[in-house]
Amino acid sequence: MKRLPLLAAALLTVPATLTAQTGPTDPVFSPAAVRAHVEFLADDLLEGRDTGSEGHEIAARYVASQFDGLGLKPAGDNGGWLQRITFQKTEPASTPATLTVTGPAGTKNFTHGGDVLMGLNAAEPHLDVTAPLVFVGFGLENARLGLNDYAGLDVKGKIVVTLRGYPKGLPSEEGAHLSATKGKIAESHGAIGMISLGTIQSMKARPWARMVQFANDPDFTWVSPEGVPFDAAPGLRASASLNDPAAEAIFAGAPGSIAAIRKVADRTGGKPKGFALRTSVQIKADSVSQRVTSPNVVAILPGSDPKLKDEYVVLSAHLDHIGISPAKPGDAPDKDRINNGALDNGAGIATMLEVARAMAQAPDKPRRSIIFLASTGEEKGLLGADYFARHPSVPVKQIVGNVDLDMPLLFYPFTDVIAFGADHSTLGPIVAKAVAPMGLKLSPDPMPQETIFVRSDHYMFVKQGVPAVFLATGYANGGEKAWGEFLGGNYHHPGDDMKQKIDWEAGARFAEANYRITRAMADGDTPPLWFDKDFFGDLFAPDATKAAK
Ligand SMILES: [Zn+2]
Repeated sequence: MKRLPLLAAALLTVPATLTAQTGPTDPVFSPAAVRAHVEFLADDLLEGRDTGSEGHEIAARYVASQFDGLGLKPAGDNGGWLQRITFQKTEPASTPATLTVTGPAGTKNFTHGGDVLMGLNAAEPHLDVTAPLVFVGFGLENARLGLNDYAGLDVKGKIVVTLRGYPKGLPSEEGAHLSATKGKIAESHGAIGMISLGTIQSMKARPWARMVQFANDPDFTWVSPEGVPFDAAPGLRASASLNDPAAEAIFAGAPGSIAAIRKVADRTGGKPKGFALRTSVQIKADSVSQRVTSPNVVAILPGSDPKLKDEYVVLSAHLDHIGISPAKPGDAPDKDRINNGALDNGAGIATMLEVARAMAQAPDKPRRSIIFLASTGEEKGLLGADYFARHPSVPVKQIVGNVDLDMPLLFYPFTDVIAFGADHSTLGPIVAKAVAPMGLKLSPDPMPQETIFVRSDHYMFVKQGVPAVFLATGYANGGEKAWGEFLGGNYHHPGDDMKQKIDWEAGARFAEANYRITRAMADGDTPPLWFDKDFFGDLFAPDATKAAK
Protein backbone atom coordinates (compact mmCIF):
# COMPACT_ATOMS: atom_id res chain seq x y z
CA MET A 1 0.00 0.00 0.00
CA LYS A 2 1.08 3.51 -0.75
CA ARG A 3 2.46 5.32 2.28
CA LEU A 4 0.50 8.22 3.70
CA PRO A 5 -0.07 9.69 7.18
CA LEU A 6 0.43 6.35 8.80
CA LEU A 7 -0.78 3.15 8.07
CA ALA A 8 0.56 -0.61 11.24
CA ALA A 9 -0.39 -11.66 15.64
CA ALA A 10 -2.41 -13.94 16.63
CA LEU A 11 -2.31 -17.51 15.33
CA LEU A 12 -5.11 -20.00 15.56
CA THR A 13 -6.45 -22.61 13.24
CA VAL A 14 -9.69 -22.02 11.40
CA PRO A 15 -12.64 -23.58 13.16
CA ALA A 16 -14.27 -26.16 10.91
CA THR A 17 -17.53 -24.22 10.94
CA LEU A 18 -15.84 -21.36 9.09
CA THR A 19 -14.99 -23.50 6.10
CA ALA A 20 -17.59 -23.23 3.36
CA GLN A 21 -19.50 -26.20 2.11
CA THR A 22 -17.83 -27.00 -1.18
CA GLY A 23 -19.77 -28.18 -4.18
CA PRO A 24 -18.47 -30.66 -6.76
CA THR A 25 -17.10 -27.95 -9.08
CA ASP A 26 -15.81 -25.58 -6.38
CA PRO A 27 -12.05 -25.13 -6.61
CA VAL A 28 -9.78 -25.97 -3.72
CA PHE A 29 -7.25 -23.39 -2.54
CA SER A 30 -3.93 -24.50 -1.18
CA PRO A 31 -2.05 -22.71 1.61
CA ALA A 32 1.22 -24.10 0.20
CA ALA A 33 0.53 -22.61 -3.24
CA VAL A 34 -0.06 -19.15 -1.74
CA ARG A 35 3.08 -19.46 0.37
CA ALA A 36 5.18 -20.59 -2.60
CA HIS A 37 4.43 -17.41 -4.57
CA VAL A 38 5.21 -15.16 -1.61
CA GLU A 39 8.39 -17.12 -0.87
CA PHE A 40 9.70 -16.34 -4.35
CA LEU A 41 8.55 -12.71 -4.48
CA ALA A 42 9.85 -11.86 -1.00
CA ASP A 43 13.28 -13.40 -1.56
CA ASP A 44 16.24 -11.11 -0.83
CA LEU A 45 17.42 -11.72 -4.40
CA LEU A 46 14.55 -9.50 -5.62
CA GLU A 47 15.81 -6.67 -3.40
CA GLY A 48 12.39 -5.33 -2.48
CA ARG A 49 11.02 -5.09 -6.08
CA ASP A 50 11.47 -1.35 -6.43
CA THR A 51 9.95 0.28 -9.52
CA GLY A 52 12.59 0.26 -12.25
CA SER A 53 14.83 -2.27 -10.47
CA GLU A 54 16.05 -5.62 -11.72
CA GLY A 55 14.33 -7.29 -8.76
CA HIS A 56 10.98 -6.01 -9.98
CA GLU A 57 11.79 -7.18 -13.52
CA ILE A 58 12.46 -10.69 -12.16
CA ALA A 59 9.17 -10.58 -10.26
CA ALA A 60 7.38 -9.48 -13.46
CA ARG A 61 8.85 -12.46 -15.38
CA TYR A 62 7.69 -14.75 -12.57
CA VAL A 63 4.11 -13.49 -12.84
CA ALA A 64 4.20 -13.64 -16.66
CA SER A 65 5.45 -17.21 -16.54
CA GLN A 66 2.67 -18.17 -14.12
CA PHE A 67 0.07 -16.57 -16.41
CA ASP A 68 1.59 -18.45 -19.36
CA GLY A 69 1.41 -21.78 -17.53
CA LEU A 70 -2.29 -21.22 -16.83
CA GLY A 71 -3.06 -20.75 -20.51
CA LEU A 72 -4.14 -17.12 -20.14
CA LYS A 73 -3.91 -14.66 -23.04
CA PRO A 74 -1.14 -12.04 -22.94
CA ALA A 75 -2.60 -8.51 -22.83
CA GLY A 76 0.49 -6.32 -22.63
CA ASP A 77 2.40 -4.54 -25.41
CA ASN A 78 2.63 -6.17 -28.86
CA GLY A 79 1.05 -9.47 -27.85
CA GLY A 80 3.34 -9.89 -24.83
CA TRP A 81 2.65 -10.09 -21.10
CA LEU A 82 4.35 -6.81 -20.19
CA GLN A 83 3.01 -3.29 -20.55
CA ARG A 84 6.26 -1.35 -20.30
CA ILE A 85 5.97 2.12 -18.81
CA THR A 86 8.53 4.90 -18.89
CA PHE A 87 8.78 6.84 -15.65
CA GLN A 88 10.43 10.13 -15.00
CA LYS A 89 12.32 10.03 -11.72
CA THR A 90 13.20 13.43 -10.23
CA GLU A 91 15.47 13.97 -7.24
CA PRO A 92 16.71 17.04 -5.37
CA ALA A 93 20.04 18.34 -6.73
CA SER A 94 22.97 18.67 -4.33
CA THR A 95 22.27 22.37 -3.66
CA PRO A 96 19.43 22.33 -1.12
CA ALA A 97 16.22 24.14 -2.09
CA THR A 98 15.41 27.36 -0.25
CA LEU A 99 12.35 29.39 0.61
CA THR A 100 12.73 33.07 1.44
CA VAL A 101 9.88 34.99 3.06
CA THR A 102 9.71 38.78 2.64
CA GLY A 103 7.14 40.96 4.41
CA PRO A 104 6.42 43.38 7.25
CA ALA A 105 8.79 41.48 9.55
CA GLY A 106 11.67 41.61 7.08
CA THR A 107 13.26 38.66 5.33
CA LYS A 108 13.63 35.12 6.61
CA ASN A 109 15.40 32.19 4.95
CA PHE A 110 14.48 28.54 5.24
CA THR A 111 16.21 25.46 3.82
CA HIS A 112 14.69 22.24 2.53
CA GLY A 113 14.70 19.54 5.21
CA GLY A 114 14.66 22.09 8.07
CA ASP A 115 11.37 23.90 8.60
CA VAL A 116 10.31 23.65 4.96
CA LEU A 117 9.94 20.76 2.52
CA MET A 118 10.00 21.79 -1.11
CA GLY A 119 8.40 19.95 -4.00
CA LEU A 120 10.39 19.36 -7.17
CA ASN A 121 9.45 20.53 -10.64
CA ALA A 122 10.91 18.28 -13.34
CA ALA A 123 9.84 20.75 -16.04
CA GLU A 124 11.99 23.46 -14.38
CA PRO A 125 15.24 21.87 -13.12
CA HIS A 126 16.37 25.32 -11.91
CA LEU A 127 13.14 26.52 -10.41
CA ASP A 128 13.12 30.11 -9.20
CA VAL A 129 9.67 31.57 -8.45
CA THR A 130 8.76 34.71 -6.54
CA ALA A 131 5.10 35.52 -5.82
CA PRO A 132 2.76 37.05 -3.23
CA LEU A 133 0.77 34.71 -0.98
CA VAL A 134 -2.96 34.22 -0.47
CA PHE A 135 -4.39 32.06 2.30
CA VAL A 136 -7.29 30.00 0.91
CA GLY A 137 -8.46 27.96 3.93
CA PHE A 138 -8.59 24.28 3.03
CA GLY A 139 -8.37 25.27 -0.65
CA LEU A 140 -11.39 23.20 -1.64
CA GLU A 141 -14.22 23.73 -4.03
CA ASN A 142 -17.24 21.52 -4.52
CA ALA A 143 -20.79 22.78 -4.96
CA ARG A 144 -22.38 19.53 -3.80
CA LEU A 145 -20.52 19.61 -0.49
CA GLY A 146 -20.87 23.39 -0.05
CA LEU A 147 -17.16 24.12 -0.38
CA ASN A 148 -16.05 27.36 -2.06
CA ASP A 149 -12.81 28.42 -0.41
CA TYR A 150 -11.78 30.61 -3.36
CA ALA A 151 -14.87 32.84 -3.26
CA GLY A 152 -13.85 36.50 -3.44
CA LEU A 153 -10.10 35.77 -3.57
CA ASP A 154 -7.76 36.77 -6.39
CA VAL A 155 -4.96 34.21 -6.64
CA LYS A 156 -3.94 34.74 -10.26
CA GLY A 157 -0.16 34.60 -10.57
CA LYS A 158 0.12 34.06 -6.80
CA ILE A 159 1.02 31.22 -4.48
CA VAL A 160 -1.87 29.87 -2.42
CA VAL A 161 -1.45 28.78 1.18
CA THR A 162 -3.74 25.90 2.19
CA LEU A 163 -4.45 23.81 5.24
CA ARG A 164 -3.95 20.08 4.82
CA GLY A 165 -6.97 17.81 4.61
CA TYR A 166 -10.61 18.88 4.65
CA PRO A 167 -13.20 20.23 7.10
CA LYS A 168 -14.04 17.91 9.98
CA GLY A 169 -17.32 16.13 9.45
CA LEU A 170 -17.01 15.81 5.67
CA PRO A 171 -17.33 12.16 4.55
CA SER A 172 -13.73 10.86 4.62
CA GLU A 173 -13.56 9.33 1.14
CA GLU A 174 -15.03 12.39 -0.57
CA GLY A 175 -12.78 14.57 1.58
CA ALA A 176 -9.68 12.55 0.74
CA HIS A 177 -10.50 12.67 -2.96
CA LEU A 178 -11.00 16.44 -2.92
CA SER A 179 -7.81 16.93 -0.89
CA ALA A 180 -5.88 15.07 -3.58
CA THR A 181 -7.17 17.54 -6.19
CA LYS A 182 -6.20 20.75 -4.35
CA GLY A 183 -3.41 21.47 -6.81
CA LYS A 184 -5.79 21.30 -9.75
CA ILE A 185 -8.29 23.56 -7.98
CA ALA A 186 -5.54 26.13 -7.28
CA GLU A 187 -4.35 25.93 -10.89
CA SER A 188 -7.87 26.45 -12.22
CA HIS A 189 -7.93 29.81 -10.37
CA GLY A 190 -4.63 30.85 -11.91
CA ALA A 191 -2.33 30.16 -8.93
CA ILE A 192 1.29 29.31 -9.78
CA GLY A 193 2.23 27.58 -6.56
CA MET A 194 0.84 25.96 -3.43
CA ILE A 195 2.08 25.91 0.15
CA SER A 196 0.58 23.42 2.63
CA LEU A 197 0.28 23.89 6.37
CA GLY A 198 -0.60 21.23 8.91
CA THR A 199 -3.81 21.24 10.93
CA ILE A 200 -3.94 20.17 14.58
CA GLN A 201 -5.31 16.84 13.36
CA SER A 202 -2.83 16.30 10.51
CA MET A 203 0.17 17.22 12.67
CA LYS A 204 -0.89 14.58 15.18
CA ALA A 205 -1.28 11.94 12.48
CA ARG A 206 1.89 12.93 10.66
CA PRO A 207 4.35 14.90 12.78
CA TRP A 208 6.89 17.09 11.00
CA ALA A 209 9.77 14.86 12.13
CA ARG A 210 8.21 11.99 10.20
CA MET A 211 7.60 14.07 7.07
CA VAL A 212 11.23 15.18 7.06
CA GLN A 213 12.39 11.54 6.88
CA PHE A 214 11.09 11.37 3.33
CA ALA A 215 12.52 14.75 2.29
CA ASN A 216 14.92 13.36 -0.29
CA ASP A 217 12.76 10.61 -1.76
CA PRO A 218 12.55 10.88 -5.53
CA ASP A 219 9.35 11.94 -7.27
CA PHE A 220 7.99 9.68 -9.98
CA THR A 221 5.55 10.30 -12.77
CA TRP A 222 4.67 8.24 -15.83
CA VAL A 223 5.58 9.40 -19.31
CA SER A 224 2.89 9.16 -22.01
CA PRO A 225 3.47 7.10 -25.18
CA GLU A 226 4.01 10.51 -26.85
CA GLY A 227 6.89 11.19 -24.42
CA VAL A 228 5.16 13.72 -22.17
CA PRO A 229 5.63 13.34 -18.38
CA PHE A 230 2.22 13.35 -16.69
CA ASP A 231 1.52 16.33 -14.46
CA ALA A 232 -1.99 16.77 -13.05
CA ALA A 233 -1.49 20.53 -12.57
CA PRO A 234 1.39 21.76 -14.77
CA GLY A 235 0.49 25.40 -14.08
CA LEU A 236 1.51 25.00 -10.44
CA ARG A 237 5.23 25.60 -10.63
CA ALA A 238 6.18 25.57 -6.98
CA SER A 239 5.04 23.62 -3.95
CA ALA A 240 6.14 23.42 -0.34
CA SER A 241 5.10 22.22 3.13
CA LEU A 242 5.88 24.42 6.12
CA ASN A 243 6.63 23.68 9.74
CA ASP A 244 5.57 26.22 12.40
CA PRO A 245 8.51 28.69 12.28
CA ALA A 246 8.06 29.07 8.53
CA ALA A 247 4.26 29.14 8.79
CA GLU A 248 4.47 31.94 11.36
CA ALA A 249 6.86 33.87 9.10
CA ILE A 250 4.42 33.91 6.17
CA PHE A 251 1.60 35.07 8.47
CA ALA A 252 3.60 38.13 9.61
CA GLY A 253 1.25 41.11 9.72
CA ALA A 254 -1.77 38.97 8.77
CA PRO A 255 -5.27 39.69 10.13
CA GLY A 256 -5.40 36.20 11.71
CA SER A 257 -2.71 34.00 13.27
CA ILE A 258 -2.05 30.47 12.11
CA ALA A 259 -2.79 29.23 15.65
CA ALA A 260 -6.26 30.85 15.59
CA ILE A 261 -6.94 29.48 12.10
CA ARG A 262 -6.01 25.98 13.23
CA LYS A 263 -8.47 26.26 16.12
CA VAL A 264 -11.31 27.14 13.73
CA ALA A 265 -10.29 24.29 11.43
CA ASP A 266 -10.37 21.87 14.36
CA ARG A 267 -14.12 22.37 14.94
CA THR A 268 -16.63 20.16 13.19
CA GLY A 269 -17.52 21.92 9.95
CA GLY A 270 -14.89 24.59 10.62
CA LYS A 271 -13.85 26.30 7.40
CA PRO A 272 -11.34 29.11 7.99
CA LYS A 273 -11.92 31.95 5.53
CA GLY A 274 -9.18 32.99 3.14
CA PHE A 275 -7.45 36.37 2.82
CA ALA A 276 -4.44 37.90 1.08
CA LEU A 277 -1.27 37.66 3.15
CA ARG A 278 1.16 40.56 3.46
CA THR A 279 4.17 38.42 2.63
CA SER A 280 5.67 36.99 -0.54
CA VAL A 281 8.07 34.11 -1.02
CA GLN A 282 10.90 33.21 -3.33
CA ILE A 283 11.23 29.46 -3.87
CA LYS A 284 14.42 28.11 -5.43
CA ALA A 285 14.76 24.38 -6.06
CA ASP A 286 17.22 22.55 -8.30
CA SER A 287 16.43 19.02 -9.38
CA VAL A 288 17.80 16.26 -11.58
CA SER A 289 15.61 13.95 -13.62
CA GLN A 290 16.21 10.67 -15.34
CA ARG A 291 14.02 8.14 -17.08
CA VAL A 292 13.55 4.55 -15.97
CA THR A 293 11.19 1.89 -17.26
CA SER A 294 9.16 -0.72 -15.41
CA PRO A 295 6.36 -3.02 -16.56
CA ASN A 296 2.82 -3.86 -15.59
CA VAL A 297 2.07 -7.53 -16.26
CA VAL A 298 -1.32 -8.13 -17.88
CA ALA A 299 -3.28 -11.26 -18.84
CA ILE A 300 -6.82 -12.01 -19.96
CA LEU A 301 -9.02 -15.03 -19.35
CA PRO A 302 -11.65 -14.78 -22.11
CA GLY A 303 -15.25 -15.00 -20.92
CA SER A 304 -17.44 -17.98 -21.78
CA ASP A 305 -20.68 -16.13 -22.53
CA PRO A 306 -20.85 -14.88 -26.14
CA LYS A 307 -22.98 -11.89 -25.01
CA LEU A 308 -20.96 -10.91 -21.96
CA LYS A 309 -17.39 -11.74 -22.94
CA ASP A 310 -16.73 -8.24 -24.27
CA GLU A 311 -17.19 -6.94 -20.73
CA TYR A 312 -14.16 -7.18 -18.46
CA VAL A 313 -13.62 -7.47 -14.73
CA VAL A 314 -10.15 -6.43 -13.57
CA LEU A 315 -8.50 -8.22 -10.66
CA SER A 316 -5.43 -6.19 -9.74
CA ALA A 317 -2.56 -6.30 -7.25
CA HIS A 318 0.64 -4.29 -7.18
CA LEU A 319 3.87 -6.19 -7.71
CA ASP A 320 6.30 -3.39 -6.88
CA HIS A 321 7.48 -2.51 -3.40
CA ILE A 322 9.90 0.07 -1.98
CA GLY A 323 13.29 -1.58 -2.60
CA ILE A 324 16.26 -1.23 -0.26
CA SER A 325 16.32 1.37 2.52
CA PRO A 326 19.35 3.68 2.46
CA ALA A 327 22.01 2.97 5.09
CA LYS A 328 21.92 5.26 8.10
CA PRO A 329 25.00 6.44 9.97
CA GLY A 330 25.78 3.99 12.75
CA ASP A 331 24.00 1.03 11.12
CA ALA A 332 25.64 -2.34 11.72
CA PRO A 333 27.29 -3.47 8.46
CA ASP A 334 25.06 -6.55 8.24
CA LYS A 335 21.82 -4.69 9.03
CA ASP A 336 18.91 -5.97 6.93
CA ARG A 337 17.81 -3.10 4.71
CA ILE A 338 15.84 -5.07 2.10
CA ASN A 339 12.14 -4.30 2.19
CA ASN A 340 10.92 -7.71 1.04
CA GLY A 341 7.24 -6.76 0.95
CA ALA A 342 5.98 -10.26 1.77
CA LEU A 343 2.51 -9.00 2.68
CA ASP A 344 2.85 -5.67 0.82
CA ASN A 345 2.17 -6.97 -1.69
CA GLY A 346 3.60 -10.43 -2.32
CA ALA A 347 0.48 -11.74 -0.60
CA GLY A 348 -1.84 -9.78 -2.91
CA ILE A 349 -0.05 -11.07 -6.01
CA ALA A 350 -0.12 -14.64 -4.63
CA THR A 351 -3.86 -14.28 -4.05
CA MET A 352 -4.38 -13.02 -7.59
CA LEU A 353 -2.33 -15.85 -9.07
CA GLU A 354 -4.30 -18.47 -7.15
CA VAL A 355 -7.60 -16.90 -8.22
CA ALA A 356 -6.30 -16.96 -11.81
CA ARG A 357 -5.40 -20.62 -11.45
CA ALA A 358 -8.83 -21.53 -10.09
CA MET A 359 -10.59 -19.66 -12.88
CA ALA A 360 -8.40 -21.00 -15.66
CA GLN A 361 -8.95 -24.55 -14.41
CA ALA A 362 -12.67 -24.24 -13.61
CA PRO A 363 -14.88 -26.53 -15.70
CA ASP A 364 -17.38 -23.65 -15.91
CA LYS A 365 -15.44 -20.57 -17.00
CA PRO A 366 -16.53 -17.05 -15.92
CA ARG A 367 -19.10 -15.47 -18.25
CA ARG A 368 -17.38 -12.09 -18.52
CA SER A 369 -13.69 -11.86 -19.39
CA ILE A 370 -11.21 -11.31 -16.58
CA ILE A 371 -8.14 -9.07 -16.76
CA PHE A 372 -5.37 -9.92 -14.29
CA LEU A 373 -3.16 -6.90 -13.66
CA ALA A 374 0.09 -7.01 -11.67
CA SER A 375 0.86 -3.31 -11.51
CA THR A 376 4.10 -1.41 -11.03
CA GLY A 377 4.74 1.99 -9.46
CA GLU A 378 2.00 1.64 -6.83
CA GLU A 379 4.30 2.69 -4.02
CA LYS A 380 5.31 5.73 -6.11
CA GLY A 381 1.75 7.05 -6.29
CA LEU A 382 -0.47 4.38 -7.90
CA LEU A 383 1.32 5.09 -11.18
CA GLY A 384 1.22 1.73 -12.98
CA ALA A 385 -2.51 1.36 -12.37
CA ASP A 386 -3.12 4.97 -13.41
CA TYR A 387 -1.20 4.31 -16.63
CA PHE A 388 -3.12 1.10 -17.27
CA ALA A 389 -6.51 2.69 -16.54
CA ARG A 390 -5.64 5.44 -19.06
CA HIS A 391 -4.04 3.07 -21.58
CA PRO A 392 -5.96 -0.17 -21.01
CA SER A 393 -5.63 -3.38 -23.04
CA VAL A 394 -9.35 -3.07 -23.91
CA PRO A 395 -11.51 0.07 -24.20
CA VAL A 396 -12.13 1.37 -20.67
CA LYS A 397 -15.89 1.50 -21.38
CA GLN A 398 -15.77 -2.31 -21.50
CA ILE A 399 -14.21 -2.57 -18.04
CA VAL A 400 -17.16 -3.05 -15.69
CA GLY A 401 -15.50 -3.47 -12.32
CA ASN A 402 -12.24 -3.78 -10.40
CA VAL A 403 -11.19 -5.62 -7.28
CA ASP A 404 -7.80 -4.64 -5.94
CA LEU A 405 -5.73 -6.74 -3.56
CA ASP A 406 -3.19 -4.88 -1.52
CA MET A 407 -1.48 -6.03 1.65
CA PRO A 408 -3.94 -8.65 2.91
CA LEU A 409 -2.93 -9.20 6.54
CA LEU A 410 -2.68 -12.98 6.64
CA PHE A 411 -1.88 -13.25 10.34
CA TYR A 412 -5.11 -14.64 11.79
CA PRO A 413 -8.15 -16.73 10.84
CA PHE A 414 -10.15 -13.77 9.60
CA THR A 415 -13.93 -13.96 9.89
CA ASP A 416 -14.78 -10.71 8.12
CA VAL A 417 -13.56 -8.75 5.14
CA ILE A 418 -13.47 -5.04 4.42
CA ALA A 419 -14.20 -3.78 0.93
CA PHE A 420 -12.98 -0.18 0.88
CA GLY A 421 -15.31 1.67 -1.48
CA ALA A 422 -18.19 -0.79 -1.01
CA ASP A 423 -20.68 1.97 -0.14
CA HIS A 424 -20.52 3.56 -3.57
CA SER A 425 -21.71 0.77 -5.86
CA THR A 426 -23.46 -2.58 -6.03
CA LEU A 427 -20.04 -4.09 -5.34
CA GLY A 428 -20.92 -3.81 -1.63
CA PRO A 429 -23.89 -6.21 -1.84
CA ILE A 430 -22.08 -8.34 -4.46
CA VAL A 431 -19.11 -8.85 -2.12
CA ALA A 432 -21.33 -9.50 0.93
CA LYS A 433 -23.33 -12.16 -0.90
CA ALA A 434 -20.29 -13.78 -2.49
CA VAL A 435 -18.43 -14.39 0.78
CA ALA A 436 -21.45 -15.32 2.92
CA PRO A 437 -21.25 -19.06 2.04
CA MET A 438 -17.75 -19.07 3.59
CA GLY A 439 -19.14 -17.77 6.88
CA LEU A 440 -17.48 -14.41 6.21
CA LYS A 441 -19.09 -11.05 6.88
CA LEU A 442 -18.56 -7.81 5.01
CA SER A 443 -17.74 -5.14 7.60
CA PRO A 444 -17.92 -1.38 7.17
CA ASP A 445 -14.60 0.48 6.88
CA PRO A 446 -13.22 0.37 10.46
CA MET A 447 -10.55 3.02 9.79
CA PRO A 448 -12.17 5.79 7.73
CA GLN A 449 -9.49 8.21 8.97
CA GLU A 450 -6.91 6.28 6.93
CA THR A 451 -8.82 7.10 3.70
CA ILE A 452 -7.69 3.83 2.19
CA PHE A 453 -10.22 4.26 -0.62
CA VAL A 454 -7.86 6.74 -2.31
CA ARG A 455 -4.63 4.92 -1.38
CA SER A 456 -4.42 1.93 -3.64
CA ASP A 457 -4.68 1.04 -7.31
CA HIS A 458 -8.49 0.63 -7.48
CA TYR A 459 -8.85 4.43 -7.04
CA MET A 460 -7.29 4.91 -10.48
CA PHE A 461 -10.09 2.77 -11.96
CA VAL A 462 -12.66 4.77 -9.99
CA LYS A 463 -11.24 7.92 -11.58
CA GLN A 464 -11.91 6.41 -15.01
CA GLY A 465 -15.53 5.71 -14.00
CA VAL A 466 -15.14 2.01 -13.08
CA PRO A 467 -16.84 0.78 -9.87
CA ALA A 468 -14.05 -0.64 -7.72
CA VAL A 469 -13.26 -1.96 -4.25
CA PHE A 470 -10.13 -2.78 -2.33
CA LEU A 471 -10.49 -6.05 -0.46
CA ALA A 472 -8.81 -6.59 2.89
CA THR A 473 -9.07 -8.89 5.88
CA GLY A 474 -11.26 -7.41 8.64
CA TYR A 475 -10.94 -6.34 12.27
CA ALA A 476 -12.85 -9.28 13.79
CA ASN A 477 -11.22 -12.32 15.42
CA GLY A 478 -7.83 -10.74 16.09
CA GLY A 479 -7.80 -8.52 13.01
CA GLU A 480 -7.80 -5.18 14.77
CA LYS A 481 -4.73 -6.14 16.79
CA ALA A 482 -2.96 -7.51 13.71
CA TRP A 483 -3.65 -4.31 11.74
CA GLY A 484 -2.44 -2.12 14.59
CA GLU A 485 0.73 -4.14 15.05
CA PHE A 486 1.55 -4.34 11.36
CA LEU A 487 0.93 -0.67 10.55
CA GLY A 488 2.96 0.37 13.56
CA GLY A 489 5.63 -2.25 12.91
CA ASN A 490 6.68 -4.11 9.78
CA TYR A 491 4.65 -1.98 7.32
CA HIS A 492 7.20 -0.57 4.83
CA HIS A 493 10.06 -2.03 6.87
CA PRO A 494 12.55 -4.83 6.20
CA GLY A 495 10.59 -6.87 8.77
CA ASP A 496 7.76 -7.48 6.24
CA ASP A 497 9.44 -10.73 5.21
CA MET A 498 9.01 -14.50 5.45
CA LYS A 499 10.13 -14.55 9.09
CA GLN A 500 6.71 -13.18 10.09
CA LYS A 501 4.20 -15.66 11.47
CA ILE A 502 2.01 -15.80 8.40
CA ASP A 503 -1.15 -17.90 8.55
CA TRP A 504 -1.13 -19.55 5.13
CA GLU A 505 -4.54 -21.14 5.77
CA ALA A 506 -5.83 -17.57 5.92
CA GLY A 507 -4.06 -17.01 2.60
CA ALA A 508 -5.92 -19.88 0.99
CA ARG A 509 -9.22 -18.61 2.40
CA PHE A 510 -8.53 -15.09 1.21
CA ALA A 511 -7.91 -16.47 -2.29
CA GLU A 512 -11.19 -18.39 -2.12
CA ALA A 513 -13.05 -15.25 -1.01
CA ASN A 514 -11.64 -13.30 -3.92
CA TYR A 515 -12.39 -16.10 -6.33
CA ARG A 516 -16.02 -15.98 -5.22
CA ILE A 517 -16.15 -12.18 -5.44
CA THR A 518 -14.57 -11.99 -8.87
CA ARG A 519 -16.82 -14.76 -10.15
CA ALA A 520 -19.90 -13.01 -8.83
CA MET A 521 -18.87 -9.87 -10.72
CA ALA A 522 -18.14 -11.85 -13.86
CA ASP A 523 -21.18 -14.12 -13.78
CA GLY A 524 -24.03 -11.81 -12.70
CA ASP A 525 -26.61 -10.89 -15.34
CA THR A 526 -26.00 -7.24 -14.43
CA PRO A 527 -22.48 -5.86 -14.14
CA PRO A 528 -21.46 -3.89 -11.03
CA LEU A 529 -23.16 -0.46 -11.07
CA TRP A 530 -22.60 2.82 -9.25
CA PHE A 531 -25.38 3.73 -6.87
CA ASP A 532 -27.82 6.50 -7.78
CA LYS A 533 -26.57 9.95 -6.71
CA ASP A 534 -23.25 8.58 -5.49
CA PHE A 535 -20.54 11.24 -5.29
CA PHE A 536 -17.94 9.22 -7.21
CA GLY A 537 -20.37 7.69 -9.70
CA ASP A 538 -21.79 11.11 -10.57
CA LEU A 539 -18.33 12.65 -10.79
CA PHE A 540 -16.54 10.03 -12.87
CA ALA A 541 -19.31 8.11 -14.64
CA PRO A 542 -22.09 10.67 -15.12
CA ASP A 543 -23.60 8.82 -18.09
CA ALA A 544 -23.38 5.28 -16.71
CA THR A 545 -26.48 3.28 -15.73
CA LYS A 546 -26.92 3.58 -11.97
CA ALA A 547 -28.55 1.29 -9.41
CA ALA A 548 -30.93 2.22 -6.59
CA LYS A 549 -29.18 2.07 -3.22
ZN1 LIG B 1 2.99 -0.38 0.44
